[in-house]
Amino acid sequence: MDFPFDNSYARLPERFFARVSPTPVAAPRLIGVNAPLAVELGLDPEWLAGEEGVQVLAGNRVPEAAEPIATAYAGHQFGQFVPQLGDGRAILLGELIDRGGVRRDVQLKGPGRTPFSRGGDGRAALGPVLREYVVSEAMAALGIPTTRTLGAVTTGEGVVRERMLPGAVLTRVASSHIRVGTFQFFSSRGDTEGVRVLADHVIARHYPDAADAARPYHAFLVAVVGAQAALIAQWQMVGFIHGVMNTDNSSVAGETIDYGPCAFMDEYDPETVFSSIDRFGRYAYFQQPGIAGWNMARLAECLLPLLSEDLEAAVAEANESLAAFMPAFERAYQQGLNRKLGLLTARDEDPALAGDLLQVMAENRADWTLTFRRLSEASASEDGDAALPSLFVEPSAIDAWLARWRERLAKEPGDPTSRSAAMLATNPAYVPRNHRVEAVIRAAEDKGDLSPFAELMTVLSKPYDSQPAFAHYTEPPAEHERVHRTFCGT
Ligand code: AMP
Ligand code: MG
Repeated sequence: MDFPFDNSYARLPERFFARVSPTPVAAPRLIGVNAPLAVELGLDPEWLAGEEGVQVLAGNRVPEAAEPIATAYAGHQFGQFVPQLGDGRAILLGELIDRGGVRRDVQLKGPGRTPFSRGGDGRAALGPVLREYVVSEAMAALGIPTTRTLGAVTTGEGVVRERMLPGAVLTRVASSHIRVGTFQFFSSRGDTEGVRVLADHVIARHYPDAADAARPYHAFLVAVVGAQAALIAQWQMVGFIHGVMNTDNSSVAGETIDYGPCAFMDEYDPETVFSSIDRFGRYAYFQQPGIAGWNMARLAECLLPLLSEDLEAAVAEANESLAAFMPAFERAYQQGLNRKLGLLTARDEDPALAGDLLQVMAENRADWTLTFRRLSEASASEDGDAALPSLFVEPSAIDAWLARWRERLAKEPGDPTSRSAAMLATNPAYVPRNHRVEAVIRAAEDKGDLSPFAELMTVLSKPYDSQPAFAHYTEPPAEHERVHRTFCGT
């Protein structure tokens, strides 16, 4: 099998990365291969799932055209700047041009130590690998920009965490793995030339229109800010909580990246935090837009020397681009909420209508996903509201709002049937609920049983379909199934 790699990042200056090979593992076994993604990349899924493919996914065999590197980056972790992080447990094999002509990184996560590993072992445990596999592919199926999972293997070796856990390697595919923290790496060293080379690379790769703009670096910053605002609005729409929105986990391509203690919210509470390491709720659900804006400000700081030779002018340009973040987010957020409520036109009263629903949901611990899904079903008929009240602690609390919503729908063009269909295509029935992900991990870790994983992947591949056979996957956790804390498990 030929991997026609074309490695543009490995052609950048040597200080951008370290050349390093994966460390072979004892006894790799396949967890899964993402056949549609393999085909997209021009790879043969059957070969990939076969003996030789598994050796590649494990890092035991490096394809001929690969130029394995670990990339350098820095980052603000929980607000604290760390000048050197880098790929400590990831190795970029190379870049493939996919069938659509798009350049995609192929990276192994958990392939052993690199020069950036610091105290770590460069390995990944099975649990976090399964979580990333499930959640990244669920995000893709939901239509949210994300890194993808091409496949994963267990290593046949243990990794030492709080206890001994089975090891695994995940193969991640991304538009690129360039982070806000990659810019910070060069900027914090006073390496303006490095910042410029990186910016030119990112512009050519992700924002080619910016190259033709009057002020290319300004246009680039504006584009990244816009992509990030749109991304976070999409997260909010499905109740996704990233959990570790450090600048090193913020992709300049606008994809969701670095699935650690991430989770989907069940009952709506804007202050929801799952991550065990996020003790002060810095990355709580409602904080995500503000934090993304803060991360964009860190990117803008790196670009200052490129924006203008005159510092004052550069700061003014940066501030102007950053000021666009919140309005862009708010616009996307409100449009998203309108779509979720079946509103295709926009009226002045809509933000209050949506806001009041969220307030009633929060006060009554209503399930985020189920509430919108049931509204979608209810919208088909005038008297379809019966399934809603039971989602609220005080069932009658939603009555007045439902009446208002009905009045608002009456002002919409279009018929109820197509409205309901559009809502069902916007409000998923299936998201990777925490307790399901946890059950997948428990079965795999404790019993070596991957069938819950395979079933969950099947369900989540069609999140907007009703799938009656899997209706139980729409349900929130029972009290004893509830997952309160998630862990990075690094
Ligand atoms: P994360 O919090 O997972 O985004 O990782 C932050 C930093 O820690 C990155 O530089 C990772 O490469 C590094 N890191 C995380 N886990 C490991 C590990 N097991 N071995 C080496 N480096 C790691
Ligand atoms: Mg990271």
